[in-house]
Amino acid sequence: QLPCSVKELSEAAGVPAVQILRILMDEGVMTNINAQMDPELTEFIAAELGVDVDFLQPETLEDRVLMRLEEIEDPEESLVARAPVVTFLGHVDHGKTSLLDRLIGIDVAGGESGGITQHIRAYRIENNGRPMAFVDTPGHEAFTEMRARGAGVTDIVVLVVAADDGVMPQTEEAISHAKAAGVPIIVALNKIDLPGVDPLRAMTDLNTNGLQPSEWGGDTEIVKTSATTGEGLDELLETILTVAELNEYVANPDRAAIGTCLESQQDADRGVVTKVLVQNGTLKVGDIVVCGDAYGRVKAMLDPLSPRTRLEEAGPSVPVNLTGLDIAPSAGARLYVLDDIAEAREIAETRGKSQHNEYLGATGFRQTTLDTLFE
Ligand code: GDP
Ligand code: MG
Repeated sequence: QLPCSVKELSEAAGVPAVQILRILMDEGVMTNINAQMDPELTEFIAAELGVDVDFLQPETLEDRVLMRLEEIEDPEESLVARAPVVTFLGHVDHGKTSLLDRLIGIDVAGGESGGITQHIRAYRIENNGRPMAFVDTPGHEAFTEMRARGAGVTDIVVLVVAADDGVMPQTEEAISHAKAAGVPIIVALNKIDLPGVDPLRAMTDLNTNGLQPSEWGGDTEIVKTSATTGEGLDELLETILTVAELNEYVANPDRAAIGTCLESQQDADRGVVTKVLVQNGTLKVGDIVVCGDAYGRVKAMLDPLSPRTRLEEAGPSVPVNLTGLDIAPSAGARLYVLDDIAEAREIAETRGKSQHNEYLGATGFRQTTLDTLFE
């Protein structure tokens, strides 16, 4: 059921909006007539007013266009193998970024991107002709939100656990999010090079947290790694590829693209630069896209690993930095390709407007939680 604004309820019930605002105020909520109320709150207000409410479902342009795109089923014969999307999660400083740097160094000559840990990084690499997409998420507490979304677009989670530190609060959080997303977890027991570390302790912690090591008869692969010496990295790659092969990830490259915004920002020279992971279909330069409350025509797509390499198109599991959106959409927003720029603009603008209004739940202000992000 869609939220209803104070104004809409006032018009539908034939009562002045101030009367509704007064009821809200009695409930301790100071707001304005454009605030959106959830159905429960709407019913509560209606009861206070002594009117009956009936919720009609207006079909918005967004429902009509985007939901249909989301529902298109790909015929069996259109599906081809795609690269697994592997996200590195774990407690801050346990070595996510270092591991990824090192892994990329294996196959990408001079892969020297200075890792800015405040940003989500997404790269595509090939290992012996087998492509993989890696996503590195910021480890900082304030980025929990994006981290949660990082797992949302992922096929496999590499849980990085420093052997000297063991399972920490953010490790537990990462485990529960990976489990909620229902994706396989591979543990990289990192910093194994440090003198005096006791891998057994970390393994016991992992076991307690529901990740039974395979060497103890469970089904969690735990690979001992060192981003510093490179130990265990080949084994980590092999383990990722083995898990990927077991799951056979497929997509249909011959359809309009669907993807997810990993992050986006305004760049002084290039305008809005949006990091997008294409998940299905093929995204092309010139495509009309809508992404959250942003829209535009894809102007250029750059390979995140070599920002000078312009891509004409990007298929499933390919991360790109694209330009051409009017504003920066928020991380986690879905990207769709549409036929009609006017339609894209209308959807984006409608969304933009409703975002700027307050959203009132039955208990007052609604908050976005990690769990709602995972839905
Ligand atoms: P992140 O916050 O999980 O991304 O962790 P970083 O990759 O930034 O690493 C945090 C710190 O641990 C850095 O100082 C790294 O140099 C160090 N580090 C990462 N991996 C290893 C490792 O395998 N061995 C050792 N000794 N240090 C490591
Ligand atoms: Mg990092």
